[in-house]
Amino acid sequence: CSAAVPNSGDARGSPRPHVVLLPSAGMGHLVPFTRLATALCSGHGCDVSVVTAVPTVSSAEARHLAALFAAFPAVRPLELDLASLDVSEFAGADPFYVRYEAIRRSASLLAPLLAGASASALVADIALASVVIPVAKELGLPCYVFFTGSATMFSFLAYLPTYLDANAGSGHAIGDVDVPGVCRVPMSSVPQALHDPDDIFTRQFIANGRSLANADGLLVNAFDALEPEAVAALRRGTVVAGLPPVFAVGPLSPASIPAEDSGNYLPWLDAQPARSVVYVSFGSRKALPRDQLNSLAAGLEASGHRFLWVVKGAVVDRDDAGELGDLLGEGFLQRIHGRAFVTMEWVHQEVVLNHPAVGLFISHCGWNSVTEAAASGVPVVAWPRFADQRVNAGVVARAGLGAWVERWSWEGEEDGVVVSAEDIAGKVKSVMADEAVRKTAASVRDAAARVVAAGGTSYRSLAELVRRCRDGL
Ligand code: UDP
Ligand code: UDP
Repeated sequence: CSAAVPNSGDARGSPRPHVVLLPSAGMGHLVPFTRLATALCSGHGCDVSVVTAVPTVSSAEARHLAALFAAFPAVRPLELDLASLDVSEFAGADPFYVRYEAIRRSASLLAPLLAGASASALVADIALASVVIPVAKELGLPCYVFFTGSATMFSFLAYLPTYLDANAGSGHAIGDVDVPGVCRVPMSSVPQALHDPDDIFTRQFIANGRSLANADGLLVNAFDALEPEAVAALRRGTVVAGLPPVFAVGPLSPASIPAEDSGNYLPWLDAQPARSVVYVSFGSRKALPRDQLNSLAAGLEASGHRFLWVVKGAVVDRDDAGELGDLLGEGFLQRIHGRAFVTMEWVHQEVVLNHPAVGLFISHCGWNSVTEAAASGVPVVAWPRFADQRVNAGVVARAGLGAWVERWSWEGEEDGVVVSAEDIAGKVKSVMADEAVRKTAASVRDAAARVVAAGGTSYRSLAELVRRCRDGL
């Protein structure tokens, strides 16, 4: 890919399509966009540009973008200047959602950027869909929307406007939502923010859901073996009628970008027996409350297993100035010394999950983490905390990729319901000893490998998307 000559064309003389990718904010969105960029460029003969809005919210995103552009010179940055935003309007709001809003309000500035780039198609992040589709239409540019989460959550997003319209008499109250042809999303699994009609995330989510029919196509980082009902229902129009073609292209394979971290946990991991280590991570953008952090520490210790734990002390990594000893106590760190590796630094999660020493993943079920666990065949203890994570945990449980204790609390429910150390230790011990889940996880891994290999369903979906981009559809 890095050797690609822009617009050199393929063997039949068709021009190389130039696909412009527009991610929103946060590693959970940037990582799949990066994977899509390198797949389009290396595997499918496209020129690719990635729109960036700098400075990024987190330093992880800045490091990741720098590593991408260094490793793949054929993937070019297109810098979007953001319109100024009065942040006092969003006091206390999630900084990543505020960035979505900042990009959304800068949508008109995209037009000259896209017009100057001689793009063949735009692939925009779901968080930006409703404002970006009209800009692309105005330019006559095909616009695809990329849903970086699960097909199940995508079907919920696509259906929610219909649900709200049908229940208009009850105001904005969202109860259990039966997504046609997919599953029931119980009220307790609906992302927290969506219960508040005035939350910026809610307004964006509903507007984006309503806009899908105007896109030229929809991409989702999903595959049928993991979410058979959702993928089929989205494609067949069972969820909502009138959706454009749906391309299930997951699980997108890791981009070959050199690790951006120190790798200091690798010698420790290398020294551990096969499948003996519990890997614990709650993703890139949330910190557990202090009392929950302490009972997790005690639970991991009481499980008797080895563990690699990535601890986050703040929502945005730039604010993560605390010390492990202050967060967890020096006594704990001394007691687990040697048997565990605890770090506040970024780890290369794909490498960790593919390491033979890792036998279990305690995960918040951010969708990228789920697809990475699926691709590496590591069983999951699902502990969703926020947003789409309970919906994703349901996918994990239904597919047999892991276990989800539904009564374990999530953000906003903490008061008095901190999950106990005993519960955590018990679950870790039982899933580590569960041969059946290990076998199912291995079969999910094999299915994932098949769909992304040449000729597999996800590979063909991506090839079809590229054909459309080449043909200007
Ligand atoms: N990640 C990583 N190292 C870390 C934390 C996260 O490589 O220390 C990656 C992880 O592999 C995944 C992404 O960052 O690809 C996080 O996305 P996900 O959807 O799992 O969760 P989010 O962070 O958006 O909640
Ligand atoms: N360790 C850790 N997090 C770190 C660094 C070290 O948990 O970021 C723990 C881990 O258990 C590791 C042990 O400290 O096995 C040994 O650390 P180090 O490599 O610094 O050597 P030592 O303390 O044995 O001289």
